[in-house]
Amino acid sequence: MSPEPAPPAAALLAWYDRHRRRLPWRAEPGEVADPYRVWLSEIMLQQTTVAAVIPYYARFLTRFPTVEALAAADEAAVMAAWAGLGYYARARNLHACARAVVAAGGFPREIAALRALPGIGPYTAAAVAAIAFGLPTVPVDGNVERVIARLGAIETPLPTAKPQIAAEAARLGADPAARARASDFAQALFDLGATVCTPAAPSCALCPWQSGCVGRRMGIAESLPRKAAKSPRPLRHGVHFWLADPAGFVLLRRRPPRGLLGGMTELPGTPWRAAPWGAAEWAPHAPMRADWRPAGEVRHGFTHFELHIALFAAEVPAIEAAGFLRSAAALDVEALPSVMRKCVALVLPGRRPDDALTIV
Ligand code: SF4
Repeated sequence: MSPEPAPPAAALLAWYDRHRRRLPWRAEPGEVADPYRVWLSEIMLQQTTVAAVIPYYARFLTRFPTVEALAAADEAAVMAAWAGLGYYARARNLHACARAVVAAGGFPREIAALRALPGIGPYTAAAVAAIAFGLPTVPVDGNVERVIARLGAIETPLPTAKPQIAAEAARLGADPAARARASDFAQALFDLGATVCTPAAPSCALCPWQSGCVGRRMGIAESLPRKAAKSPRPLRHGVHFWLADPAGFVLLRRRPPRGLLGGMTELPGTPWRAAPWGAAEWAPHAPMRADWRPAGEVRHGFTHFELHIALFAAEVPAIEAAGFLRSAAALDVEALPSVMRKCVALVLPGRRPDDALTIV
């Protein structure tokens, strides 16, 4: 238990009533939150920023406006709509979760039942429970971790500090004012972290909890939360091939359904491994005999490794190789992950890696 009294929830809620962010998935004051939108946004926001998610969310919601529409969709259509957001296991779980929710007649209103759904961990269950259903629980995301570490001057590095931070979050949420407005309280904490208690240069003068903040008083707020030093990500190498025909069709293939980028579309290529590929090694992996020319290098960061891809391109009169052909002009509707969109951008003039998806 922290020796400091918990700062009053009422002060944070009063601040939120004046300064809340307007977000596409967020209910306006007086509106009832839609659990489908809350859940969808929370899945999309994992490991991704609000600014990056907003256009994807809008297009996804246009394509799948209800959980029933999402449940009824083909997996390929869901993966194509998700392409570019990364972490594709989330898209598969999203689809499986939608089907489970529809089969059960709607989203459950208990944290344990939410956690039992595909792709819903402790944080997402708490977020949906609090935001969509007003259950008195405090979801702890990175913003909330930062606010709480600073409020209590918690100097233990993350992730070791997580249990202590969770206990402090529960203490804040036990305030009767927080319990009475659990949905707003959770979102107020998100907004405080995102707009005032920012990672660099927190605006403590604007903070409704400044008088109770130990980190600010000690002059160490900006340095919190501390993080354990990360070991550098290992580097892997791959070679991929852009093989086109005179009609503008390009050879693609589908990745295996499970595993990294499972079920996504890619340009044919080598496995990704620690040692760089020599020309003699990658040649046998080429989809067919062709006059390959180097088309550049793509660098992409995955969670657990960094990938460097050497891209080679060739045109041949006719393509006869394993995989399938798609018009290069219509690649937007393919479920190409970001790393492959970077490859496409190297070959197609005027194409940007973030030309993500067009809903058809
Ligand atoms: Fe964050 Fe400053 Fe508020 Fe403390 S006073 S919670 S450091 S913004």
